[in-house]
Amino acid sequence: MVERPILLLGGTGEARSLAAQLDQAGLPVISSLAGRVRNPRLPVGEVRIGGFGGVDGLVRWIRVHDAAAVVDATHPFATTMTAHAATVAERMSLPLLRVRRPAWTPGPRDTWVPVPDTAAAAEHLAQRIAGGGSSRVFLTTGRQDVSVFADISDAWFLIRVVDPPTSDLPPHHEVLRSRGPYDLASERALLRSHRIDLLVTKNSGGDLTRAKLTAAAEAGIPVVMVQRPVEPAVGDTVASVEAAVEWVTRQRRPNF
Ligand code: NAP
Repeated sequence: MVERPILLLGGTGEARSLAAQLDQAGLPVISSLAGRVRNPRLPVGEVRIGGFGGVDGLVRWIRVHDAAAVVDATHPFATTMTAHAATVAERMSLPLLRVRRPAWTPGPRDTWVPVPDTAAAAEHLAQRIAGGGSSRVFLTTGRQDVSVFADISDAWFLIRVVDPPTSDLPPHHEVLRSRGPYDLASERALLRSHRIDLLVTKNSGGDLTRAKLTAAAEAGIPVVMVQRPVEPAVGDTVASVEAAVEWVTRQRRPNF
């Protein structure tokens, strides 16, 4: 009997690691990537790339491929995909697992300014700059969110992205193309060499990009931290790849 596959919504290190572990355990998995990044790091096993075409497209895809469950291991800020997965799982009464890495939390040396979204981060930044607070900003919120900072003309931005941004950018900037993980020594050097006095980031969580926060804390650089969006309370949630492997294994019994 052919086993029904698991649809694994990815685009994260956790999703790649989960795909590898499920593949090794002989479980049929189809990983899905949005197709945003030009040269994505591909997971082990079968991969499909590109949007499904909204909720209805996802329903169709699941029917055609007879997926037995959905594992949503997308980034904590991939809110649309997570919402679609939740809607579809409810509609189709399909088991859904959200793999959501823990958020970063500030330590005693951190100076964080929490803001609800990137627009609020830009607003805060503009006020801060007007008050003479900061002038050299390290922006790591990702390519899709850069345009909200485009009107800020009296600061200089170091914009770190995987692929070059296509939207409007602030007038004074340098685009630094790179992909994590980043270590502490290189983050320290980056902050120093560019004389950064403010870091703007999303609370992505995880270890791969955590070093910039440590480097900022060491240098006394404040961090404007975009808080995580609230997620739909549908299905189960785990915080680690190991727990996700267990969940999938449990789902297979008795009639997966
Ligand atoms: P999003 O805003 O939540 O999703 C927008 C649309 O992109 C979705 O409606 C869906 O299109 C498509 N999509 C997103 N993730 C997909 C996936 N894994 N497989 C197939 N289609 C997907 O997503 P996003 O924030 O642009 O993120 C896109 C991808 O990059 C995600 O896989 C995410 O894990 C990864 N990523 C995001 C961030 C971030 O900060 N947002 C950071 C690192 C990695 P349809 O409606 O057509 O199905």
